[in-house]
Amino acid sequence: MKAKSFARAALTSALLIAGGAVWAQNVKITPLGSHAGELCDRDRATIFEDPTGVRILYDAGHSVTGGDDPRLGDVHMVLLSHAHGDHMGDRKMKALEAGSCEKPETISAAPHSTTAEIAAAKNAAIMMVSPMGAFIARKIQNITGKPTGNCPEKGGALNVPFAASCQANAQLGGMRILKAPGATAGVEVTIVPASHDSTVSRELLTDPQKAALAVDNTSLYLGPPSGYVIKFTNGLTVYLSGDTGIHAEMKTVVGDFHKVNLALLNLGSSAISGYSATYAMNELIKPAAVIATHVNEGATSGGKLKPTSRTAAFIKLVKRPVHLAISGRTMEFDGKANCVAGCN
Ligand SMILES: [Zn+2]
Ligand SMILES: [Zn+2]
Repeated sequence: MKAKSFARAALTSALLIAGGAVWAQNVKITPLGSHAGELCDRDRATIFEDPTGVRILYDAGHSVTGGDDPRLGDVHMVLLSHAHGDHMGDRKMKALEAGSCEKPETISAAPHSTTAEIAAAKNAAIMMVSPMGAFIARKIQNITGKPTGNCPEKGGALNVPFAASCQANAQLGGMRILKAPGATAGVEVTIVPASHDSTVSRELLTDPQKAALAVDNTSLYLGPPSGYVIKFTNGLTVYLSGDTGIHAEMKTVVGDFHKVNLALLNLGSSAISGYSATYAMNELIKPAAVIATHVNEGATSGGKLKPTSRTAAFIKLVKRPVHLAISGRTMEFDGKANCVAGCN
């Protein structure tokens, strides 16, 4: 959103309040998967929009067409949980809807990655653990031809939109505040631990690096894997799990300290079993609601959950509402994580 549209939004808001109408303070969450209306095997990318207009993309991955994906709209910050290709985006959709929900058709996104393509195209900030952030910053530079500097900070906040793509990278535990023009409150983004791997796809490396790693069949680490906690201005506090096994910080850091009320949970079975994911939700984090994503299966058909899917088995065991991350469907949440529009 450009400065003008921000001003317009603020004005509309003021008029609505003056007129006594209720101003919807909802956060909009829109999954960008491979096939509209479904929850598919490769679906990763998710857009979050704060009521003040701040827009954040989480894990661009394979289910977008790259920087030109028409569904993206404005993006002020790009988050990346870890270096795996299905998150950084070593491949991208050949076209929207290409292939099937179980096996979308993708093409290489080398040498840049969908993460770098989108950050460059949108003049967005990147916020991820520093070693991976440095890697993505160089890729953005390779696209724009200009060094990717640090994001300008004023009064302790990063003010969006940015004039150029920039770095707001941090370590585990680091927090940044994103503020829209005229907004009194900002969106707080914190990097939290995950228990996983974070080695980069060789496809995204330069030839000498690729060759050096190939000799010993080794992989290159880009720092620790992570999740995120985002506290929106309406009070909605969302945990983005990243790929992770069950771990103790789910209770201490994510549940007890951040008190998240909504969890966007990656269900990939190589990292977390249905039972451990259920325990994490029911006993460790206890959010008011859950969004199921990264299911590594075609979980729906015609928009309906397949009863024999792993996702269906998980939902049966979780003692709170579970919403499916259906591609292209915008879910709206109030500050208490009630889904007030766009959910089943
Ligand atoms: Zn992974
Ligand atoms: Zn993954």
